Parts: sequence; structure tokens; C-alpha cells
Amino acid sequence: MGGEPAERIDALVVGAGPAGSTAAFRLAETGHRVVVVEEHARVGHPVQCAGLVSSRVLELSGARSTIVREVRGASVFGPSLRRVEFRAEEPRAFVIDRAGLDIHLADRAARAGAEFRTGTRFDAKVADEPGAVRVRLRGPDGEAVDVRTRLVVGADGVASAVARAFRLRRPVEILPAFEAEFPTSPGDPDVVEVYLGRTISPGLFGWWIPDGRGGARVGVAADADGTPARVYYDRLLEALARRFGRPLANPTAFVASGIPIGRLPRCVGPRVVLVGDAAAQVKPLSGGGIFTGMRAAEHAAAVAGPALDDDDLGERRLAEYPRRFDAELGDELRRALYLRRVYCRLSDRELDALVDVLRTSHLGGTIVAFGDIDFPTHVARQLLRESPGLLRLLPKALGAFVLPGAGAAAVPELEPGPLRK
Ligand SMILES: Cc1cc2nc3c(=O)[nH]c(=O)nc-3n(C[C@H](O)[C@H](O)[C@H](O)COP(=O)(O)OP(=O)(O)OC[C@H]3O[C@@H](n4cnc5c(N)ncnc54)[C@H](O)[C@@H]3O)c2cc1C
Repeated sequence: MGGEPAERIDALVVGAGPAGSTAAFRLAETGHRVVVVEEHARVGHPVQCAGLVSSRVLELSGARSTIVREVRGASVFGPSLRRVEFRAEEPRAFVIDRAGLDIHLADRAARAGAEFRTGTRFDAKVADEPGAVRVRLRGPDGEAVDVRTRLVVGADGVASAVARAFRLRRPVEILPAFEAEFPTSPGDPDVVEVYLGRTISPGLFGWWIPDGRGGARVGVAADADGTPARVYYDRLLEALARRFGRPLANPTAFVASGIPIGRLPRCVGPRVVLVGDAAAQVKPLSGGGIFTGMRAAEHAAAVAGPALDDDDLGERRLAEYPRRFDAELGDELRRALYLRRVYCRLSDRELDALVDVLRTSHLGGTIVAFGDIDFPTHVARQLLRESPGLLRLLPKALGAFVLPGAGAAAVPELEPGPLRK
């Protein structure tokens, strides 16, 4: 750095995904000097997402123009490819142009005054200095640039360099994910398809999502058991070929990435907050993180803005952000983590049995009425209320939670809290 005085800013936001650009927008609109660094040359590219979101994401972002397809329901396939379908009258989720969403959010932040530097990577924390922290960036030509910032917002995704640099390392599970885009595909463009089972996707599921142009986004995320996600993806393609009677052909784009699942003990420190995937703020039952990451960014900025004004950027003050996030979404995420542990223990036979029960009972109506991709545990609670016998289907899975002397009483964790619908 040759002794040049480092630039001074209020907030350095690392990563121009939905979480970073939301935080940047809120901090810039409240008058702070914000710089966003994004390691890729273009915001939104490469796309690493299936782009299925709720109407809440569209409201939070104001990005209805990015919708490419409305979705009214889901077909859920058990391991034997028997399926149950849920279909509502009205749209229940939206397939979006994910790059378009990121660009829309970056534009909104830039219009509020945030400065974007693409092709620029956060490299390291250099030193704590009076009133600031000095960090090192690498510009498009690889040149090092030091910046003095009063706050760092780590919105740099699943492999967060900010988390590492500020020693907020995370004991979370990273599910490897693999997805491809097919320009043409058979299938009903009104529903998404979900594929369960240990062969295709142990620990999560495979998906087929209509892309609004006659094609589909097809992918899997699976437990990190050492098997590459690509292997599960190939098995999903085999299942789809059986279902459609012909193989999907000519994929035009591939995504290989990871989905963080778990809860971070610490997502703030002195002069630093983590938001979005960097903080593992992801829905454990689906791996979706756009809604949760944007809500976290809103809370983080609502706390960090006044903290910047008061020049009080200690961990204690910033810890108000995870408390607010937890008050809004903590119960849902805790219950979803619990349910995911149950789900992960289900054998293929039990998953098939579950699909059969849902197909042949009155419970499909409950799923349509209560299904909500942002709050999936609501429907699970309602199903258990209406049909406690479902618990008997899952003896092995539930056995994981039977503590000595506790019997099946471990389950009521799902019960507290009002339904939101
Ligand atoms: C295959 C797949 C499908 C998915 N499908 C869905 C879905 O349908 N719906 C849904 O809600 N969620 C989905 N997700 C999850 C969703 O993509 C993430 O939860 C969401 O993108 C998180 O947003 P973010 O802003 O926290 O991070 P990201 O969107 O990952 O943004 C982080 C940004 O930081 C940049 N960056 C990283 N390191 C640095 C650095 N050192 N310096 C500068 N910049 C850096 C990256 O280039 C990136 O632009 C999917 C994930 C995967 C892997």
C-alpha cells in the first residue's frame, strides 16, 4: 500500500447478493457512506439459485418485474416415484429471474447513494485502528487497496471470507448443491416438482422448477457425506427421464454451490455483522435463503445505522440485530431444524409411506390451506394437530429424539407459538 492514506468510509458491504444490497440500501438511505464490493465483474452473475420465492420477497424488494412464472402448487415424489400433488387456485410462489433480482436490488442501493465496486474482492482484515478497522481489498487487476471503515457487513455468501477474517467461524453444515438449466422440458409449468429419497437427495430434495419459457431448472442439494452433488443430480435426471419418458437434453447452464444449514452462535463482533448465507440464515427445510437473508439485512441495517450515528459499534450494541432477527424468525428456523433432523432419519420406505398417506387422506387440503414456503413448519404443525397418527408412521425418525424417560414428549417443541395464517 506504499504508505498512502487509506480511504475512510462508514460501512463496507462485502457481496452484492440480496442480503448485501438490501443492507447497503438501508444504510445509504439513512445518510451513511457505503461502499459495496462484489468479486464478480457483474452483479447477479453467475446465477447460483433456482429463483423460487414467496410474495414476501417481491414485496421486500419491489421486484415484481423479475417474475418469470407464477406457481400454484407442488408435486411431491416419493423414492418410488409415487406422487402427491397440491394445487391452489391462486399463485403460491414465484419463479424469478434471479440475476434480475440482484441487479434490481443493487440499482436501488446505488440510487440511494451506495457506491458499487465490481470485480473487487474483500481479501483480509489488516488491523484494528482508532475508530475504524482497516481491511484489504483486491481490485480487478489484483491490486491491493486498503480501506478504513467503521463497519464491515459480511454478505459474502456461504464461504464468507469476512466470517473467517473476523473469526466468526461457523459450525454449520454445508450441503453441496448442483443445478442445471434446460431450455426445454416436459412437465406442468403451474407446479414445481420435489423429489425425495436417499438415492436422489439424502438430507434435502431434488427439484424441477418451470422457468416460464418452456424449460426448467433442475437440481439437488444433499447431505455432505463426501458424495459429490453431481452424482445425486445424475440420479435425479434418471428419475426425470423415467417420469417424462425421455431424457432432458442440452443443459445451458450449471450451478455448483453450497447451502449452509444450521445456527450461528455469533453473527456479530466488534465493527462487523454477517447477513444472509454468510450467517447461515437459510430455511433448513428447503435451503431457500433469499427471504431470510433480506429480512436479516433489514434488521442488521436498522441496528447498525443508529449505531454508526452514535459511533457505538461494539459487539454488545450490534448484538441487538440477531435478537431482532430471532424475534421474527427464530422460532420458525428452530422448528425447521428440528423437523429436518426428523426428515433426515426417514428411510425411503417411510418417505413412500408418508407420500401415500398424504395422497389418500384429507390432508392435502390442509397442505394447500397452510402451505407457505417461508414458514413450512406451520403446515407441519397443522398436519400433526389434525392427524396425530402421522407420528406413528415415523417411529425410527422420532426415536432419535426420545430421551431416556421422555417418551415421545420431545415432539411438542413443534406446538408452541401462534399460527401466522
Ligand atoms: C442451487 C441453489 C439453488 C437455490 N435456490 C433457491 C431458491 O429457489 N430460493 C431461495 O430463496 N434460495 C435459493 N437458494 C439459496 C440462495 O441462493 C441464497 O440463500 C441467497 O443467494 C443468499 O443471499 P446472500 O446475499 O446472503 O448471498 P449470495 O447471493 O451468495 O451473495 C454473496 C455475494 O458475495 C460475493 N462474494 C463472495 N465472496 C466475496 C469476497 N471475498 N469479496 C467480494 N464479494 C464476494 C459473491 O460473488 C456473491 O455475489 C439456492 C441456492 C443454491 C446453491
